[in-house]
Amino acid sequence: MAGRSEHGPDGGRDPWDWWRGTDELWRWGARVREIWLDDLADDTGRRATRQRRIAALLGHARENSAFYRTHYRHLPAGCTDLRVCPPVTRAQLMANFDGWVTDAQLRRHELETFVRDPSRVAEPYLGNYAVWTSSGTTGVPGIYVQDPDALAIYAALLTTRFEFGPMLGDPWQMPAAAGRMALVAATGGHFAGVVWWERQRRLHPLLAAHTRVFSILQPLDVLVSQLNDWQPAFVGSYPTMLALLAGEQCEGRLGIRPRTVWSGGEALTAADRAAIADGFACPVVEDYGASECMQIAFGCRHGRLHLNDDWVELEPVDARGQPVPPGQPSDTVLLTNLANRVQPVIRYDLGDSVTVDATPCPCGQRRPSVRVQGRRDDVLVLDGAGGRGVRLLPLAVETVIEEEAGVHRFQLIQTARNALRLRVDAPGARRRAVAGRRAVRALARFLEAQGVERVDLTLDDCLPQANPVSGKLRRVRALPATAASGR
Ligand SMILES: [Zn+2]
Repeated sequence: MAGRSEHGPDGGRDPWDWWRGTDELWRWGARVREIWLDDLADDTGRRATRQRRIAALLGHARENSAFYRTHYRHLPAGCTDLRVCPPVTRAQLMANFDGWVTDAQLRRHELETFVRDPSRVAEPYLGNYAVWTSSGTTGVPGIYVQDPDALAIYAALLTTRFEFGPMLGDPWQMPAAAGRMALVAATGGHFAGVVWWERQRRLHPLLAAHTRVFSILQPLDVLVSQLNDWQPAFVGSYPTMLALLAGEQCEGRLGIRPRTVWSGGEALTAADRAAIADGFACPVVEDYGASECMQIAFGCRHGRLHLNDDWVELEPVDARGQPVPPGQPSDTVLLTNLANRVQPVIRYDLGDSVTVDATPCPCGQRRPSVRVQGRRDDVLVLDGAGGRGVRLLPLAVETVIEEEAGVHRFQLIQTARNALRLRVDAPGARRRAVAGRRAVRALARFLEAQGVERVDLTLDDCLPQANPVSGKLRRVRALPATAASGR
């Protein structure tokens, strides 16, 4: 399914979108200038800018967010030391949503109604905000609201830090310079990447004609044929999907010639990077972001992820919350987003294991780089009609179970080539049984649409089992042999 090309309930363009697009360009221009100045500054200047932003965010949160006011009640007034602020979790913030946000007009129950309607993806909320959702591996769905300045900062980081920066330096020139763009993603919901692209299409009509969003939920041959028709010069997707498409390209079914391929949403392994770059014979640009902050780090041509440490504070910590030195993988990482004021994210437990690399990078970038582990489930390979191997992306399977069955805490385990066991969790035995049946039905429909007709799909009595050491829940687990070969 290609992205929508019309907006507004009447199918026409909202006249305010012109104003919003212009406003965003002004904000973007101002933020690009700030980023350039920070890039030129020495280490002392950069530290001072970052500290000023941290102090301003802490002051703003304590003044305008009832949640943080209570959470930080033991801290001295005017405290600007991030390290003494107690961390927060998604469950904690979502449970206190109306007190967390700093605009009293934002109400969780109204936002939940908004995000349930797929026809409202990328609609400016209250005329002002971008709203997206995320499930993540914690099993607690999150709703994220971004203010216009945060959106302009993400856009400015996107257009200045990545190595294709000059190509995208001027959004008005972008369509002509870049050619057609394709985002291959989980559609049908208010997911960050889709909301971002649809919003750009909506606010900048020049882009709209050149960008299209394709769904990962459809059978691979349908997607391949759509991409063959569209002939994008730029493809953005998850590494698991890009590796799958690179395989299709090598085998001659897909015939596109992208100039750049963009990978995000999951960790990119060295093997995937090589397979994707070889398959498409073009550079692979990597991105590390989250629903809580779109632009955490940017990939360089040496395969490192450099932190946007002028707008993001990332603290790798161990299981006891103590700092982990460079070179060692952390248990989790605390994220502080210095760009978004409407929903402050301060020392937020992101759940990723991160290793800081303090050695200089050959690309010359002075910002520290990180390696990210985890954040990746298995690709499932099942037999389809005629014994043809059908590959199912973990993100597609997760989207079906979450969006169609409304189940967020689950585990799908492949026990034989065409045998899957599903474990679900929901409060109360009755609700759990209903949720399980709903998830099995949604999954069976999806498998059939993908060309997998004979499959032994059973509901397991067991609850989903998190890793006893990391506490993380791997939601899609392939047979060991398939997981190792990947694709
Ligand atoms: Zn580098």
